[in-house]
Amino acid sequence: MIEIEHVSKWFGDFQALKDCSLNVEQGEVVVVCGPSGSGKSTLIKCVNALEPVDEGRIVVNGIEVTTRRTNLPKVRAKIGMVFQHFELFPHKTVIENVTLGQIKVLNRSAEEAREKGEQLLERVGLADQAEKYPAALSGGQKQRVAIARALAMDPVAMLFDEPTSALDPEMISEVLDVMVQLAQEGMTMIVVTHEMGFASKVAQRVVFMDQGEIVEVQETDRFFKRPETDRAQYFLSRIL
Ligand code: ADP
Ligand code: MG
Repeated sequence: MIEIEHVSKWFGDFQALKDCSLNVEQGEVVVVCGPSGSGKSTLIKCVNALEPVDEGRIVVNGIEVTTRRTNLPKVRAKIGMVFQHFELFPHKTVIENVTLGQIKVLNRSAEEAREKGEQLLERVGLADQAEKYPAALSGGQKQRVAIARALAMDPVAMLFDEPTSALDPEMISEVLDVMVQLAQEGMTMIVVTHEMGFASKVAQRVVFMDQGEIVEVQETDRFFKRPETDRAQYFLSRIL
C-alpha cells in the first residue's frame, strides 16, 4: 500500500533523510519511533507529499506521490494525516470541519457530506459536539475531530505524527482508543508515536529512526524484547 524506496532529502546542506526504504502492506500498522530530530515527521510528510523528496520515490496505493504530474490535493486527501497540533479550521464548526473537504475536494453534495460527517462524529464519540467551534473543545476532542475529518475523505491509509504528545495525560487514551479501533478495522497506518503500549497492542512492526536513517525495522514483540542495534536499545532504555 505504501512503498518508500531509497528516499533521501536535504534541507540546504543538512541531510534529513538518508536512503530510507520501507514497505507497508495493506491493513498493516507500523509505528515509527526515534529521538527528536531523527526525521520521523519529515518522512511521513514526504509520504503525503507535504515535503518533496530529493532522491528516491514513494508510491501509495499504486500512485507515485513523488512526481510533479500527480494531482496533489486529491492524493493528499486520500492519505489522511493527523498532526501533533490539531489543525482544525478555527472559524468553522466541528461538522463544517468534517464536511468542507468532502465538498471541495471530492465534490460531494452538502447533504451527502453531512451524512458522512455525522456518522464519523458518532464513531469518534462526538455526535453531540457537531455545532460547536474548535475553541470550545478539549484537546482530546479536537484531535478526534481531526481524525474524523481525515476519515471523511475515505483515505486509503492514515498517517499520524505524534497525535497524543500535545495532550494532557487524561485525554491520551480517548484518542488512542479511536486509533486502536481504526487499526482493528484494517486501516493501513503509519504512526509516529512514543506510546509503546499502543505499539504493542496494534502495530505489526516498529521502525526505529536515528539521524535521518531507518536504523531498524522489527516485528513489534521482537523490537521490545531484543532490539538489534545498540542505538535502538539505548533509545528504548530511555523511554520505557
Ligand atoms: P523528528 O520528527 O524525528 O523530530 P523532523 O523530521 O522534524 O524530526 O526533523 C529532522 C531534522 O530535519 C531536524 O534536524 C530538523 O531540524 C530538520 N528540519 C525539519 N524540517 C526542516 C525545515 N523545514 N528546514 C530545515 N530543517 C528542517
Ligand atoms: Mg516530529
